[in-house]
Amino acid sequence: MTNPIKVTVTGAAGHIGYSLLFRIAAGEVFGPKQPVILQMLEIPPAMSVLEGTAMELQDCAFPLLHDMVLTDDPMVGFDGTSWAFLVGAFPRKAGMDRADLIGRNGPIFVGQGKAINARAADDFHALIVGNPANTNALIAMSNAPDVPNERFNAMTRLDHNRSLSQLAAKTGANVADIKQMIIWGNHSNTMVPDIYHAKIGRKKAINAVGKRWYKSYFKPTVATRGGAIIKARGASSAASAANAAICHVRDWYGGTRKGDWVSMAVPSDGSYGAPEGVIFSFPCVCPGDGTYQIVQGLDVNEEIQEGIRKTGEELLNEKAVVADLLS
Ligand code: NDP
Repeated sequence: MTNPIKVTVTGAAGHIGYSLLFRIAAGEVFGPKQPVILQMLEIPPAMSVLEGTAMELQDCAFPLLHDMVLTDDPMVGFDGTSWAFLVGAFPRKAGMDRADLIGRNGPIFVGQGKAINARAADDFHALIVGNPANTNALIAMSNAPDVPNERFNAMTRLDHNRSLSQLAAKTGANVADIKQMIIWGNHSNTMVPDIYHAKIGRKKAINAVGKRWYKSYFKPTVATRGGAIIKARGASSAASAANAAICHVRDWYGGTRKGDWVSMAVPSDGSYGAPEGVIFSFPCVCPGDGTYQIVQGLDVNEEIQEGIRKTGEELLNEKAVVADLLS
């Protein structure tokens, strides 16, 4: 039997956590042969809800779930862990602007970065989901100087998946036939959904749907989909956010499919004119060994270049707001 790997989920008692934990334990991320130990981190007021979630996990009798750790101490939650989903964060409330959210959530990722640095396994990897995800990832990365930078990613996969499903709905194609979608930049309204390289079967997506639909319907629909879901169900997306986290880590761990790439927010190397020193979403391929490469050599038109400039500027502004949290 393969040795279990330790997987940490923060904010484990929250809505996204509730959709995420069961699928990790069922083998949907690390495969049907890889046992896991779930290390679930919460804040003290959420520990009793977390105990209920753990009871349900136990009642599923998942063969791959070898053990569970429930804790409100990051030093315990990250002890020996190889993969982490950093979900826990205060949600944005009415009347709060982005800077308020950064100010409130940033310090959480200082403490967690330090705990990761002190306690995580050598092969540690983290996906940051809690918002503002890109800048929170930067804070955690900067406070874990002994962990290679490229082990910290933020999630733009939900925006990527939403784009695939909008293209599929418009053209009648199956999502599996759509390849090479790109989300550039920040997980925020400035993100740039780029379909100029995407293909639907053998056809170029932009030719299949037309520029007018892409600009007037697709882009605003993808960018405001989260708000539309809140309006419809009275609560923010949780299952689809958890699904996107699963897709991101499954591909990072196990590899992207041949002939395709995925959108991953990773430490920027300045490719495509993105600013360096921020966590920026690029098209990436993963060979299946826990690494990724930014796809190079794509021809990026002026419209997308301008979008990359704006979303990059926003990330630099967010970085300036949290300057005192970076080490
Ligand atoms: P959720 O589980 O619904 O969301 C958690 C985080 O994921 C939020 O920051 C949310 O940002 C973010 N997120 C990222 N992408 C998406 C998306 N596409 N759709 C929805 N959310 C997205 O929040 P809950 O309040 O249910 O649970 C959070 C848990 O975290 C709680 O159990 C709480 O106890 C814990 N927590 C831990 C803290 C700590 O460690 N110090 C501090 C605060 C909370 P957004 O709100 O912007 O959508």
